[in-house]
Amino acid sequence: MQIVCLDLEGVLVPEIWIEFAARTGIAELRRTTRDEPNYDVLMKYRLEILTHHKLGLPDIQAVIAEMGPMPGARAFLDDLRGDYQVVILSDTFYEFAKPLMQQLGWPTLFCHSLEADDQGYLVNYHLRMPNQKQEAVRRFKELNFTVVAAGDSYNDLAMLGEAHGGILFHPPENVIREYPQFPVTLDYAALRKEIDRAFANAAG
Ligand SMILES: [Mg+2]
Repeated sequence: MQIVCLDLEGVLVPEIWIEFAARTGIAELRRTTRDEPNYDVLMKYRLEILTHHKLGLPDIQAVIAEMGPMPGARAFLDDLRGDYQVVILSDTFYEFAKPLMQQLGWPTLFCHSLEADDQGYLVNYHLRMPNQKQEAVRRFKELNFTVVAAGDSYNDLAMLGEAHGGILFHPPENVIREYPQFPVTLDYAALRKEIDRAFANAAG
């Protein structure tokens, strides 16, 4: 009874906002929580910029579809799903992730949602709940699953800490330095090996 919880952006697909900014040339969309720590202010700003550039949801989804998953992501995920239950826990939005989920074979995804008006312009966002990655892992444990989680950045650390085993994938240097308790992997073969090892350790 094993579940692998995977982060999405930076693990299976590119960072959606950053890649979207690069592909559309809209520099204002490069702002991240590092520039604007208030997430609500940042999100409202992003949605305004999109509407200002007359980009509705279908336009946005067309750009995201072209990004595609990272090379090798689909094969890694298909193989993993053959041996474990896999749930993707992400802080992105269903409407953004959809074209990429299709390219990944529709894996299970828990994330947040966006609200569009009649013309397709994004007017609001809805977080399903706070700390959803950690909360999901906690609930899976209550359902008697052994959980191994993998992610690449700060928003994954609570999830990694909550799981029976936590693994970093392509993390930034500062995360590696600050969280030496988590093994670091740099490619899918190594990540898969660490997942198998973490379940073996959890089984004691
Ligand atoms: Mg990530």
